[in-house]
Amino acid sequence: MTVKEFLDTTIRQDEILKFMKNEQDFINDDEIAHLLKENKNPEPKKIRDIIQKSLSIERLEPHETACLLNVKDPSLWEEIFEGAAEVKKRVYDNRIVTFAPLYLSNFCVNSCLYCGFRKENTEEKRKRLSLEEVKNETQALIKIGHKRLIVVYGEHPVSDIDYIVDTISTIYSVTVDKGQIRRVNVNAPPMSVEKLKLLKQAGIGTYQVFQETYHHQTYKKVHPRGIKADYKWRLYALHRAMEAGIDDVAIGALFGLYDWKFEVMGLVYHTIDLEKHFNGIGPHTISFPRLEPAKNTPFIQQTEYKVSDEDFKKLIAVLRLSVPYTGLILTAREPAHLRREVISLGITQTDASTKIGIGAYSKNLEQQIPAEQQFLLGDTRSLDEVIGEFAEMGYITSFCTAGYRCGRTGERIMELLRKGKERWFCKLNAVLTFREWLDDYASPKTKEKGEKIIQKEIEEIKQKLPNIFPKFLKFYKRIQNGERDLYF
Ligand code: SAM
Ligand code: SF4
Repeated sequence: MTVKEFLDTTIRQDEILKFMKNEQDFINDDEIAHLLKENKNPEPKKIRDIIQKSLSIERLEPHETACLLNVKDPSLWEEIFEGAAEVKKRVYDNRIVTFAPLYLSNFCVNSCLYCGFRKENTEEKRKRLSLEEVKNETQALIKIGHKRLIVVYGEHPVSDIDYIVDTISTIYSVTVDKGQIRRVNVNAPPMSVEKLKLLKQAGIGTYQVFQETYHHQTYKKVHPRGIKADYKWRLYALHRAMEAGIDDVAIGALFGLYDWKFEVMGLVYHTIDLEKHFNGIGPHTISFPRLEPAKNTPFIQQTEYKVSDEDFKKLIAVLRLSVPYTGLILTAREPAHLRREVISLGITQTDASTKIGIGAYSKNLEQQIPAEQQFLLGDTRSLDEVIGEFAEMGYITSFCTAGYRCGRTGERIMELLRKGKERWFCKLNAVLTFREWLDDYASPKTKEKGEKIIQKEIEEIKQKLPNIFPKFLKFYKRIQNGERDLYF
């Protein structure tokens, strides 16, 4: 297909209009601005009530999120941070899931001002991995111990659905000793229902599309041309995915394009609209990347909406309280010191040993290569180092990928999360998969730290789940004896 044909045929207006009311999308910029203005200086009592509501694992309404965003008093912010940490503990406990992004192609027909892959960036070296190269990348990732990937593609006919499906099945086909990738999540451009059905058949985990900015005017400004210039095609990408049967979807905003408070409100409205259309099933995760520098991308230095570390902490806590049962993803865009600080506020997933150059894992280079990357990373530490640090902080790293393989997705997972039950399935699987990882991949130093946390977890399972404990222990011992991939 030529680029022109691709540009002309990708967007299907009928697939957008069907979800809209009176041709209006669900982001009303004036309403958001009004809510943020109307809920200035909220009473401390009101804030405490909102925190309590969230602690009962109930989603907040937009006006309640607006109140939290408007808090000024530092001591009240401390209460919000504590509330967020408590919600995280109640729903997800001390688990953290790790994954690695895998960039497969950086050809792109779009012109996003903030992205190193935009078509006008002549300093970017273009590359699409061959299936042989995909195998090599996958092998390198398996050798580190990764079980979960998120594959990333630019928007271009050379990396359309056929290429996406082929690369995913190649990844699933690779094994190295006892290791393999068990879950492939996807960050790919918005597609039609027809293509999304093929994506579903490829056996993906989560399908992720970030709206970047929910503010209509800013969206237009930063996406001047190409398919991505259509705000609504993107806004309803995950509605279409749900319609196509992918019931595990993920939203996100790129912080730094517009006012961070507005974007948090946009994420909440997006959650609400998905829940409204799909029987209470909202996004499985929310991402909140901040703009990072990219080669030959001056827009990033010019934006007036850069989010400070202090505000970044606040936005994570407010999201945690607003959508208590949804996973929150923090990426290696952020520097190590900040990652340490914000993890407790409600982060459930993060990446490690990340390389975002196309083909960079198998090259195993120490440095980043600006001309081959979409942007520059803040944290390039190894998975082993990050897991060791988590263990010291009291977190167990989970490599669990059981959820989608035994039907705990969509409606079922939402119910379990809201009732605080998923936490227990996950704890069992976290311990089993962490045992595998410690035995197969950990350095002696990380293993020592990991053993301490794993013993603590086993003791807790024994106390809290006496009925399941015997079966759990059998699985645990089988894993110690070399079996792999046993899960609840
Ligand atoms: N091309 C597809 C799209 O735009 O949906 C998918 C992949 S795109 C490479 C993945 C995400 O990277 C984008 O949705 C955007 O949020 C993020 N991104 C782009 N430029 C960035 C930058 N300079 N700093 C941080 N994140 C960036
Ligand atoms: Fe292309 Fe995605 Fe980058 Fe935009 S963000 S230029 S669509 S790769």
